[in-house]
Amino acid sequence: MSAADRQRPRVLILGAGFGGLGAARKLKQADAEVVIVDHNDFHTFQPMLYQLATAVIETTAVAHPVRDLFHDQRNATVHQATATAIDLEKREVEFEQMQPIGYDHLVVGIGARVNYFGVEGAAEHAFPMYTLVDAVRLKEHVLRRWESADRDPALIDDGALNVVVVGGGATGIESIGALAELYSSVFSKDYPRVPMEKARLTLVEAGPALFSMFEEKLQDYTQKTLEQWGVEIRLGEVVESVSPTRVQLESGEQLEAHTLIWGAGLQAHPLARALGVELERGDRIPVGPDLSLDQHPEAFAVGDIAWITDSKTGDVLPQLGSVALQAGERAGENIARLLAGSDTEPFAYHDKGTMATIGRGAAVIQFPGGRTMKGKTAFLAWGAVHLALLSTGEDRTKAMLDWTWAGFTRERGSRIVVGSDDED
Ligand SMILES: Cc1cc2nc3c(=O)[nH]c(=O)nc-3n(C[C@H](O)[C@H](O)[C@H](O)COP(=O)(O)OP(=O)(O)OC[C@H]3O[C@@H](n4cnc5c(N)ncnc54)[C@H](O)[C@@H]3O)c2cc1C
Repeated sequence: MSAADRQRPRVLILGAGFGGLGAARKLKQADAEVVIVDHNDFHTFQPMLYQLATAVIETTAVAHPVRDLFHDQRNATVHQATATAIDLEKREVEFEQMQPIGYDHLVVGIGARVNYFGVEGAAEHAFPMYTLVDAVRLKEHVLRRWESADRDPALIDDGALNVVVVGGGATGIESIGALAELYSSVFSKDYPRVPMEKARLTLVEAGPALFSMFEEKLQDYTQKTLEQWGVEIRLGEVVESVSPTRVQLESGEQLEAHTLIWGAGLQAHPLARALGVELERGDRIPVGPDLSLDQHPEAFAVGDIAWITDSKTGDVLPQLGSVALQAGERAGENIARLLAGSDTEPFAYHDKGTMATIGRGAAVIQFPGGRTMKGKTAFLAWGAVHLALLSTGEDRTKAMLDWTWAGFTRERGSRIVVGSDDED
C-alpha cells in the first residue's frame, strides 16, 4: 500500500528496546498508525542481564512481552519480524518473515552487537552479554562446568571453574562481581567437595584503570572491592586469542579458563551499513540535533545504533539505556510535531548521573557537577533507579521479589540448566 492509499500516516518503529519503546509511547495520542516491529516477541532489560546470568533473577524479570506493553495504545500494532533492509528513498523496510512495510516516518532503534575487534577465536568461543539468550547461555555453561568438575576433579586444574572477563567497563565489572558472589556464597555450599580456592576469576582490561568513565577515587574503590572478593585484575593487558579452554594475552601469558565473558566493545547493528549514509565510529548512524538522518527528515535513529550529539553540551552521548529512552521519546515527540504541522525540537540529554554496580552492597555513582557516591547507599540508589526503569509494575515486583529473596537468603533458585544443547 502506497503512502497515498493509507488512511493515516504510518510511523514504523524498528526495535522495541529502550529507544523504540520511548518513541512509540510518545506517539500514543498521534493521529497515525504506529507499527512496532522487533526481532523478538519481548523487550529486554539489558542492565540486569548479568543478574539473569548469575541466577539472581528469573528470565521474566528482564524480559517482557512487547504486545503486552501496547494493550492500552490503540493506534499501535506489533509484529515479530527481523528487518533485513531499509530503503530510505523508497521509504520501505524489508523483513525476513513478512512482506515489506512502507512508512511515512521511520524510527530505527535496533541497537548494537558485540564487537570482538577481530580477536582470533572470540566469536566462536567467547560468551557475550548483550541479549537474553547470551545471559541464559552463559548461566547454563557455568553451571555445566561446575557439574563436570564435580564429577571429574581433574578438570579443575585444567581451568574448568576459572572465568576470564574481558572489559573493565560496566558489563565486565557487573558480571565478575556477580560471579564472585555466586561462587563464594552459593557454589561453595552446592559443591562442598570442590576446592573453592582453585577457582579463579580474572578481569582483563586493556586500559590503565577500571571504569574509565568514572573519577579516579571511584576507580580505586572498584578495584579494591573486587580484589577483596578474590578477583584478579589485569590492567594494560590485551586478549590475543581465545580457545574453548585457554585465553592467550598479548603479553605472552596464557590463562587457563573454560569460560571467557566478552564485555569489551560494541558496534552498531549491521543494518546501519546498508543505509548508504556515512557512518561514525562503531558504525553508528550520525543524526542531526532533532535525531533525524541527514537528507531524510522523516527518518530518525535512536539508542545504541545512533551517533547522537547532545544539543546542550555538544558531547557525543554514550550507549546507555537512559540516553536511548530519552532519545526515543524525543524522536516520538518530533514525529508527533511533524504530523501536527510543527517544527521539530533538538534533543538535549537530561543527565541524572552515571551509575554502575560492582556487586552486592557496592556501587558507584557520579553526578553531573562532580559529586560522587559509593558503597551501600550507591547500591540502593542503583537498585531504585533500575527498578523504576523496568517497563511494567509486574516486572518491578518480580525483580524486587528475586532481589529480596537472594538478599536475605543468598539463595539462587534459578540456577538450573534447562537448555537442550549439552556441551559436555
Ligand atoms: C550487560 C549490559 C548492562 C548495561 N547496563 C546499563 C546500565 O546499568 N545503565 C544504562 O543506562 N545502560 C546500560 N546498558 C546499556 C543499555 O542497555 C543500552 O544502551 C540500551 O539497551 C540501548 O537501547 P536501544 O533501544 O538502542 O537498543 P536495545 O535495547 O538493544 O534494543 C534493540 C531492539 O531491537 C531489536 N532488533 C535487533 N535487530 C533487529 C532487526 N533486524 N529487526 C527488528 N528488531 C531488531 C532487538 O530484539 C531489541 O529488542 C547495559 C547494556 C548491557 C549489554
